[in-house]
Amino acid sequence: LEQQYRQAQKMEPVGRLAGGIAHDLNNLLAPILGYSELLTQDLVENDPRRAALEQILYAGQRARDLIRQLLAFSRKQTLTVSTINLNDLLHQFHNLLRRAIREDIEICLRLADGLPAIQGDSGQLEQVILNLAVNAQDAMPTGGVLTLATTEQLVNGHALTELDLADAAPYVLLTVADTGIGMDPTVRSQIFEPFFTTKDQHSGTGLGLSTVYGIVKQHRGAITVASEPGHGTSFSIYLPISESNTVVPAATVESADAVLM
Ligand code: ADP
Repeated sequence: LEQQYRQAQKMEPVGRLAGGIAHDLNNLLAPILGYSELLTQDLVENDPRRAALEQILYAGQRARDLIRQLLAFSRKQTLTVSTINLNDLLHQFHNLLRRAIREDIEICLRLADGLPAIQGDSGQLEQVILNLAVNAQDAMPTGGVLTLATTEQLVNGHALTELDLADAAPYVLLTVADTGIGMDPTVRSQIFEPFFTTKDQHSGTGLGLSTVYGIVKQHRGAITVASEPGHGTSFSIYLPISESNTVVPAATVESADAVLM
């Protein structure tokens, strides 16, 4: 609990700082990218300076991509909340996921019957699933199984404190598990920290899981991780079921969409 509290405290200022810096860097990059593009156009095809300019352009574009991710991370996302059946969401999202994830990875859906609806932002929840799936893919360089599972879970008593959740209530539990390389305890204890990565600078920014953490917290949920080096990793996401969800008549769902925060 204490660790989660510290985590939450740390995210805010880091996010703001990252956003501020990203904004300034973006402005600085505009002339670098703009003028090197312009100069490249002026050069004849075999001009020896072309290679140098192309490297400047390439580095600039990499920096721009990184800044875009930073901005997405630091922006305090407002949730567009609607009533969501997580099974339906997973079913639909599966198609996109199948195309995004390497073919040597089997995607297995295990969806609980009669899963209650939740209130949430479907775009943000898809982002959560995508980030976790891409990490799972990275953890399975020679293929494996990615399992997405849903269950209904009553959380109360000790577990409530452990998960840092406010209400004793039924939750929808989404599990994202892989059969990958796993993590040792030292890595595992740092994964939700912004900018923590074990990947090289071309493949990792260290923002994927802190973004996931932020989105889950905005949904008043919790996330835990279990991992065994050499065997795999499993993320558990608890999302609260609010009483009113189940009784919202279908016809009013659309107009009931609201913006939280
Ligand atoms: P990035 O993927 O850019 O490194 P993340 O915040 O998404 O940033 O992840 C942080 C780190 O957590 C990763 O670099 C990796 O070491 C570890 N990690 C995340 N997901 C997994 C996983 N499914 N299996 C093993 N390690 C993982």
